[in-house]
Amino acid sequence: MPTETSPILLWCRRDLRLSDHPALTEAARSGRPVVPVFLLDEVVEGLGAAPKWRLGLGVDVFAKALESIGTRLILRRGPALRVLRELLRETGATEVWWTRQYDPDQIARDKAVKAALHDAGLEARSFPGHLLFEPWTLQTGQGKPYQIYTPFWRAALGRGVAQQRLAPPTALTTPQHWPESEDLADWQLGRAMNRGAEVVRAYIHVGEAAAQMRLATFVRDRMEGYARDRDRLDLDASSGLSENLAYGEISPLALWEAGQRAMEDGKSGAETFLKEVVWREFAYHLLYHTPHITQESWRASWESFPWKPESAETLRWKQGRTGIEVVDAAMRELYVTGRMHNRARMLVASYLTKHMLTHWRVGQRWFADCLIDWDPASNAMGWQWVAGSGPDASPYFRIFNPQTQAETFDPEGTYRRRWLAEISDDPPETALRFFDACPRSWGMTPDQDYPAPLVGLAEGRKRALDAHEWWKTSSRT
Ligand code: FAD
Repeated sequence: MPTETSPILLWCRRDLRLSDHPALTEAARSGRPVVPVFLLDEVVEGLGAAPKWRLGLGVDVFAKALESIGTRLILRRGPALRVLRELLRETGATEVWWTRQYDPDQIARDKAVKAALHDAGLEARSFPGHLLFEPWTLQTGQGKPYQIYTPFWRAALGRGVAQQRLAPPTALTTPQHWPESEDLADWQLGRAMNRGAEVVRAYIHVGEAAAQMRLATFVRDRMEGYARDRDRLDLDASSGLSENLAYGEISPLALWEAGQRAMEDGKSGAETFLKEVVWREFAYHLLYHTPHITQESWRASWESFPWKPESAETLRWKQGRTGIEVVDAAMRELYVTGRMHNRARMLVASYLTKHMLTHWRVGQRWFADCLIDWDPASNAMGWQWVAGSGPDASPYFRIFNPQTQAETFDPEGTYRRRWLAEISDDPPETALRFFDACPRSWGMTPDQDYPAPLVGLAEGRKRALDAHEWWKTSSRT
């Protein structure tokens, strides 16, 4: 049984911030000793190369933030339940508190931990903080989960967000004895990044302070033009905050409040920005209510489509050597920066699934390995939305023509030249960085001839339309 003096284990996961952190604030208010812990557990072990590396950097900065308020972050490695039990024994804590996560792996782990602790007479308590609305609270009039974005957005706006911003605690009560902590460097979370880490490092913004600065700069300089410019590949017109949201270095509430304030101030891009923040919510609500979205086609009929598997052709897609400039530039941007422009994500996903007829899961897995803003909900929803296998108001077969998209959203070719060395006589530094980051085994050099298209635009369109016919027939049967 918890007593007024028994310590609380605060299990930090994707909530690496001091402000807007309900579990942390409540623990501070309780006056009880708090032992913040981060675990290299089965879920973290399973992350792709880039998100695992980036998470480690976030943990390091968060540990320092905790030190700044007089406490510590204890690091332990091993299966969550076993390690938590050890920590409970070592600290005399009777409760574990955490911020809720909504992907199937974390839900399964958390349920198992909760049940085992309960059986042992111990308590597990979960808190909100990762979303604006808990997935079971925003539902249709019939009490069903939303499957279509627009009514979801209207409901979100109509409901408003009930959560309040929370200031960072200035102190936490510390335990009399700290348990042993492991050394973050020993975990080598960046091992799978190989030589890519040094290249990607130049593009990241780690930690809560960096995230808040990013938000403030975005509101000041880019919010006004956001609706107009966010689709332009050649401009830096969005917030870049998905990286920080992914690790909880900033709360969605902070973005929501900034958007609301900008709307009151009459900034024209503010509503579009809020809508994007709500797309993230929508993805999480879909994930929670239909968790198979991470593994299987949301529309079951797409499971029997003759998708092509991983192949030598998909390696060319990963390498940015499809011979379609805008697709290849985007794939290089991903490898060099750990990010990709939102429109470019749609273009490369469309090319892989519609032109190359390759399973969306191949692309989903590659993104999960390369994106520093990898997010289980947005990634699964994004891939299935483009592939046509996800939920839509009136499903139709989306085909992005890479040529017209490039002409519209990269009118001067700036984006393509920025990332693709082979198309310039004197490539910029940005494009050359790819060759420092990519595996040596790929044997790629900037002076190689640029390849002919893997799938030309006319052939791609034909394949996509044939697939559309397949879908129309199969969805009727
Ligand atoms: P901004 O334009 O500044 O938008 C603000 C916030 O709104 C973002 O940080 C993000 O949280 C949310 N948002 C914006 N666009 C979307 C969207 N289309 N879907 C869901 N949320 C959105 N986003 C990820 O965070 N992680 C992923 O792994 C991911 N994978 C994707 C895969 C595909 C195939 C596609 C098409 C999209 C994917 N997205 C993913 C969504 C989107 O591309 C990114 O959220 C966006 O590019 C982030 O840039 P930003 O922070 O500058 O966004």
